[in-house]
Amino acid sequence: MSEIRFVVGVDVGGTKIAAAVVDGQRRLLGRVQRPTEVGDTARTLASIADAVRQAVRAASLTLADIAAVGLGIPGQVDPVAGVGRNSVNLGWRDAPVRAFLEAELGVRCAIENDVSVAALGESHAGVGRGLPSLVYLIMGTGIAARVVIDGRLYRGVNGLAGEIGHLVFDPDGPLCKCGRRGCLEAIASGPGIAARAREGLAAGRRSALRDVLVRTGALTTHDVFATADAGDAWAGEVLAQTSRYLGQAVATLLMLFDPAAVVLGGGLAHSGPRLIQGIHAELARQAETSLVLREQYRPDKVVVSPLGDDAALLGAAALVLSERKQLYQEG
Ligand SMILES: [Zn+2]
Repeated sequence: MSEIRFVVGVDVGGTKIAAAVVDGQRRLLGRVQRPTEVGDTARTLASIADAVRQAVRAASLTLADIAAVGLGIPGQVDPVAGVGRNSVNLGWRDAPVRAFLEAELGVRCAIENDVSVAALGESHAGVGRGLPSLVYLIMGTGIAARVVIDGRLYRGVNGLAGEIGHLVFDPDGPLCKCGRRGCLEAIASGPGIAARAREGLAAGRRSALRDVLVRTGALTTHDVFATADAGDAWAGEVLAQTSRYLGQAVATLLMLFDPAAVVLGGGLAHSGPRLIQGIHAELARQAETSLVLREQYRPDKVVVSPLGDDAALLGAAALVLSERKQLYQEG
């Protein structure tokens, strides 16, 4: 595949689509972002095609220069059939992503789950380069992990390996959109943090967050972080508890896979030092009493993604820059 000069990597999100041309040395040459049109599968697919065209133009190229397009898509994805099976964020089922885009753009396409491509990006172009294994944990609107061993993704039979966001961390916790109570995602994702902060206010906690709620009619994750940074006790308590949940999640991943590195990505990973320091504090606390975790945990093994949003673009490009057997553990 050394003849490949340019491919396009695309990161399709529920609100925005990012796309960039990537060269054979995995450099990003052009980068664009546009809103995702949701509610109608054909329009969503057309907006993805537009993002690809924009990125190619931004890199001063034409589609004739592009060897292939790799895409990270939210939800359950069938990479062999090229179909987006199910995405709550995009509101589609069995979307013919590859067939549509190949007909529209005249370029070979490959698709995979968005968290999986970010994990591949970290493995192939980020902190995972040269490491025998890596676990990627995304912490944002959703929470999920992916396991990459020797540069190859472990998908599981259904492509659902690593869905730690739907492990129950609090059996009496709030209802999760998956149907269970107290999933990690329901209590420690961005929306979960804001919901826990609101619950405390409803239970009568004194907090400056109450003024924010009265003033704006809603609480965001950003409000909780900003109010905690201003010294508010309840907001600080919510984030301290969030760090304990997420620290427990990382401890679980270390125990299950004993990886060379755990890479933390997503909006919460880049929310500032408070949450990350709290995660390390929880891991250090648990390692004190666990002979097993003491062997597995070192502060420099659990790192915030240095690639950030570029991880998904580079991983999507890796889908078409690499042979399938270099990307997947099975099949
Ligand atoms: Zn769940």
